[in-house]
Amino acid sequence: MKAMLIGEVVGAKLNPSFAELLGFAGRLGAEVVGLVMGDTSDRPSFAGKLVLAAGPEYAPQAHKAMVQELVAAEKPDLVVLVHSAYGWDLAPRLAVALSAPQISEVKEVTDGVYQVGVCNGKLVRQLAPNPGLTILTLQAGAFAPAQESGSPTVENKTLPSLPGPGLVGYKSKPKTGVDLSKAERIVSVGRGIGKKENIELARKLAAVLKAELGSSRPVVDAGWIDPSHQVGSTGTTVAPKLYLACGISGAVQHLAGMKKSELIIAVNKDKEAPIGEVARYFVVADLMEFLPALTEALQ
Ligand SMILES: Cc1cc2nc3c(=O)[nH]c(=O)nc-3n(C[C@H](O)[C@H](O)[C@H](O)COP(=O)(O)OP(=O)(O)OC[C@H]3O[C@@H](n4cnc5c(N)ncnc54)[C@H](O)[C@@H]3O)c2cc1C
Repeated sequence: MKAMLIGEVVGAKLNPSFAELLGFAGRLGAEVVGLVMGDTSDRPSFAGKLVLAAGPEYAPQAHKAMVQELVAAEKPDLVVLVHSAYGWDLAPRLAVALSAPQISEVKEVTDGVYQVGVCNGKLVRQLAPNPGLTILTLQAGAFAPAQESGSPTVENKTLPSLPGPGLVGYKSKPKTGVDLSKAERIVSVGRGIGKKENIELARKLAAVLKAELGSSRPVVDAGWIDPSHQVGSTGTTVAPKLYLACGISGAVQHLAGMKKSELIIAVNKDKEAPIGEVARYFVVADLMEFLPALTEALQ
């Protein structure tokens, strides 16, 4: 088994998620060919081969052409990327160019069968590709990062200059609202809170617990709370001592942002909600009754 792992360069830095790709390859016992496209002086440590392709951090045609060239030379069984904005843009381009199947947002693998969450994580789809090259994107945070060791043999290349769209630059989000990444306690509300006015119940509990207020994405999308409160793959990644998930089902994109919290407590009407997979304590209750009662008890 040979895996080609494609690292992501952002602002001249190799994204640390490359260690998750190495962790995944380690789980499979795969021989590793790493490919890092873009100008960076970062050098990952692992046993295998590392191809460094100088040029733009992202230019879809050039990156696709470089992967095609390396796939022809190395004949890997898997081309693996993280399911980030980079991965989900490049992977389908590769799948088409290489006539290979693509499996997106893999969260587990056992005996060549890949697991992907469906229906907001309520079901798991199991996929076993036919023999031959397969393109995979891995759910961020699903595979433990490998402890880096070893030094790869390095081959230097230059990305071709090809017409087509290219990266213009990055624009930082203006810093407003809360910084959840440093919070020690978070009371987080999901769609189960029902309406904007009910968020006050969670806010009162957060005040008593000296916690910050977090949320799932639908609460932000509904305009009930500022986007700085969103936890998850497209929000903030948090690891507080306490994460109290109120009316949050536990979709993969939410879990990706909070599952490393020290103590997770979930409150949900549905005892089958997938948040139960990561919660140490699961309270089956209606938020409208439970939140005021807990606030009063703590007061
Ligand atoms: C590309 C992409 C990126 C995404 N990024 C994010 C992200 O960063 N963060 C994120 O959160 N989501 C993200 N999502 C959305 C994600 O897929 C889910 O849709 C979302 O997390 C669901 O939010 P929820 O749990 O609040 O809502 P739901 O899934 O609707 O769950 C609501 C829960 O509340 C419970 N409930 C209802 N009423 C009550 C009550 N009265 N008392 C107690 N429990 C109750 C229900 O049983 C249910 O479990 C993303 C999706 C995509 C496609």
